Amino acid sequence: MKKKEGYFQQSNGQLALFQPDFIRDADCTKETPVIYGKSDIPIYGTGKRIHPRVSGRKDTEYMKKMYLEELLPLEMYDLVIVLISGGKDSIACYYKLLELGVPKSKIEFWHHDVDGGHPSRTMDWRCTANYIRSFAEAEQIPLRVSWRKNGFFGELYRIGASELIEWVDPETGEIYQCPPSKKYMECQKLKVAAISEMENKLAEFGYRMKFPMKSGDLSRRWCSAYLKIMVADTVLRNMNSVAANLTKTRKNIKLLIVSGERRGESVGRSKYNEIEIHRTNAVSKHHRTVHQWRPVIDYSERDIWEVRKRHKVNPHPCYRAGWNRCSCAMCIFSTPRLFAGIRELYPKEYALLCQDEKVLGFTLDNHCDLETYIGSADSCVYHGDKEAIQSLLTGEFPVESVYVNGKWKYPAGAFHGAAGGPC
Ligand code: SF4
Repeated sequence: MKKKEGYFQQSNGQLALFQPDFIRDADCTKETPVIYGKSDIPIYGTGKRIHPRVSGRKDTEYMKKMYLEELLPLEMYDLVIVLISGGKDSIACYYKLLELGVPKSKIEFWHHDVDGGHPSRTMDWRCTANYIRSFAEAEQIPLRVSWRKNGFFGELYRIGASELIEWVDPETGEIYQCPPSKKYMECQKLKVAAISEMENKLAEFGYRMKFPMKSGDLSRRWCSAYLKIMVADTVLRNMNSVAANLTKTRKNIKLLIVSGERRGESVGRSKYNEIEIHRTNAVSKHHRTVHQWRPVIDYSERDIWEVRKRHKVNPHPCYRAGWNRCSCAMCIFSTPRLFAGIRELYPKEYALLCQDEKVLGFTLDNHCDLETYIGSADSCVYHGDKEAIQSLLTGEFPVESVYVNGKWKYPAGAFHGAAGGPC
């Protein structure tokens, strides 16, 4: 449909005179007007409190508990933690903080490595770790990487208790480990003893042996819960042993968690709160205030790219190679086209995934095996950006590549909707 000047396209394809509440990624194009993506005015140090554009929900007991009317003035937080995935939205969050005047000394990047150092298998892009490391280095922001040991494939083939959560201190490089549970210790004893029937005994402590379900229910879509949410929460709950930017034993600590979910990505995310009390908030018990802010929740995809363009940041190579989203490379939500792209770029990893389906007797898709799921779909790979393909294949992403020299261009994957994600 041709867009008339002054009109906005709605998610149902109709034109409207008024700006809709948010613009779905599926409806967003290069021509969508930039609304929220314009540069912000500094407010840090002025005592100003941020209110959500859309009031928070109070429709369930849980939502009432999490409800937060406004943030504290930004200068009152001891640390602002940006959850960084390497995707466009989390990096836009970071630049918004800078534009609001938050000093770099108050910011820390947290990244959850979904592969957790597995000895042979990877779920994520080979270059994501280097892309984030280089970006943090270029911006001079401490980076705290955390993971569940052995990551996605460790959890997929788990028999017994889940592996431990670890994180690396950005100042010292030291690796910290969460305290092991009783269940975990019992399983370790069984493994050391290597007794007969060990597998059956371990299974009494729980087992996985199933791909995550493509579902909004986190108890069945275990990858998001076990490899990201629980990892972040564990590190947060252990803040007393987390050193960077804070005194180790500091009481009454105030933390702000910043993440890049947007309403336009999915129906589920359209209902998220912009600000809320974080699950790990524990004011009376641990003297720890934790608030969550989703500063780009109302941004359209165009708004997000505008921020990236303004700061001349090179998008993650996956966008430049044709992916519309930057989630795990082999994300369970990938469309047939995206999986055809994985089959082309990473044939070995893809073949192993097909083998997993046979070994587990459980398919990655909810209905059919991967080959059937891909069917006759064409690969999404765009071959015009050789440097991006090289980076996806080798895993390299040097600091010199963080910013674009010359004209910033939209990557090949931009404006192709949100299908294939998110978690
Ligand atoms: S990106 Fe996809 S595969 Fe990775 S944790 Fe999220 S839902 Fe799971």
